[in-house]
Amino acid sequence: MPFVITSPCIGEKAADCVETCPVDAIHEGPDQYYIDPDLCIDCAACEPVCPVSAIFQEDFVPEDEKDFIQKNADFFKK
Ligand code: SF4
Repeated sequence: MPFVITSPCIGEKAADCVETCPVDAIHEGPDQYYIDPDLCIDCAACEPVCPVSAIFQEDFVPEDEKDFIQKNADFFKK
């Protein structure tokens, strides 16, 4: 179950998570950072380092942020 980056990252892009990820699953997009669901090993290291609490395990993404599960996955399909 991968981790997902949600809307607080938009306009913030602090990038603290990028260095934390042991498998380089977090990539920069034009508006926010994204987690590649095929690479994420569910280690949870990125979640506490996000200064705007934008990162959630897929099962715990808030109801009004659920679109970001697909948005993260779609970013890596291009
Ligand atoms: S949970 Fe771990 S592997 Fe997945 S994106 Fe975060 S730091 Fe990377």
